[in-house]
Amino acid sequence: MDKFIPLSVPNFEGNERKYVDDAVEQGWVSTGGAYITKLETNLADYLGTPKVAACQSGTAALHLALIECGIMPGDMVIVPTLTFIAAVNPVHYQFAQPVFMDCDDSLCMDPVKLRRFCETECFLKEEQLIHKSSGKLVKAVIVVHVFGNLADMETIMEIAEQYHLKVIEDATEALGTYYTEGRYKGKFAGTIGDFGAYSFNGNKIITTGGGGAVTGRKEKEIQHIQYLSTQAKDDVHYYIHHEVGYNYRMTNVQAALGVAQMEELEEFIRRKNSNYRLYSELLETFNKGRMLTFRPGTRSNCWFYAVELDQVNRQEDLHRIISALQEKGIQSRAIWGLIHEQKPYQSALTFEIEKAVEYSRCVINLPCSTQITEDEICYVVEQLKEICVR
Ligand SMILES: *Cc1c(COP(=O)(O)O)cnc(C)c1O
Repeated sequence: MDKFIPLSVPNFEGNERKYVDDAVEQGWVSTGGAYITKLETNLADYLGTPKVAACQSGTAALHLALIECGIMPGDMVIVPTLTFIAAVNPVHYQFAQPVFMDCDDSLCMDPVKLRRFCETECFLKEEQLIHKSSGKLVKAVIVVHVFGNLADMETIMEIAEQYHLKVIEDATEALGTYYTEGRYKGKFAGTIGDFGAYSFNGNKIITTGGGGAVTGRKEKEIQHIQYLSTQAKDDVHYYIHHEVGYNYRMTNVQAALGVAQMEELEEFIRRKNSNYRLYSELLETFNKGRMLTFRPGTRSNCWFYAVELDQVNRQEDLHRIISALQEKGIQSRAIWGLIHEQKPYQSALTFEIEKAVEYSRCVINLPCSTQITEDEICYVVEQLKEICVR
């Protein structure tokens, strides 16, 4: 058989089949059932938060968080441009306006520019941040922990407190990442801001096929999110509704997968960390680029490995390398195209975007499944070195 090393595939080595069979056997396959509650409890215990709401997707989790923040049509929400577009689309679902922000060398939002935007482009009036030139309210910031790397939450929270911004952490890639030092020592990605969203899509660190979750500081708000996610149904029998709801709740079959995956999460993180170290060692002698690192003072879940390539300044160069790897049976991918350059967002507001442009041209992701072997990692690095010398 030809060699094929996938970028990122799910790992079902645990109780997945057992729990899914159980859910099917019991007939609880839809948006009610014990596995949903169990997954929510397990996540809340793991994260150390009062409550978690399980959703159909990470995107739904982010949308519900924005609704709970009170984001209304015409409001502004500060978002990163270098990330997956699902982090931004929910802003549009609320008919609010994204303001695109640059990244720093962690690939996460640049807090220096975030502060500068608030300081120079906005003013505070009665504890509300107002965008000078449009007069619109700037209500929230969505911070993405890119590839499992914590954004600089210490600085971002300071800014958010000063300017009365709600903070939604998009921790869809960062379940299991936490601070080991500093003001937020012991705090997980997604538990520091007002809300944190997780995703259990097929390529994430744990998967329910499709799925997500949202947590937050206030139990009441997460309870309300659960209510909104189940069509805002007020009672069991009479179909009384006081609000517009959504069909966003996770199903019991998905949750059965999730409960099994949670049992393995720490083992997955252990493997991701050890494979990351091996890649880093092997790439130390690579003179055409470097492995991007995770923030010091944190334990990262090391979800995705990113290599910054030298002398790759155009998308064509990056695609040539990706195709060459593909021919060797190695699946890799380019980092995302910038969101503010995508058709739906081309007329949106941007602020001093520079670094994101550079990184979007020269970063590739290498295979990172938990099942990858040491031999396969050596092979990937060998091939990458060879291709980049050519
Ligand atoms: C995966 C992902 C999402 C969306 O999660 P889904 O479960 O696929 O809806 C949002 N933001 C980022 C940064 C992601 O990587």
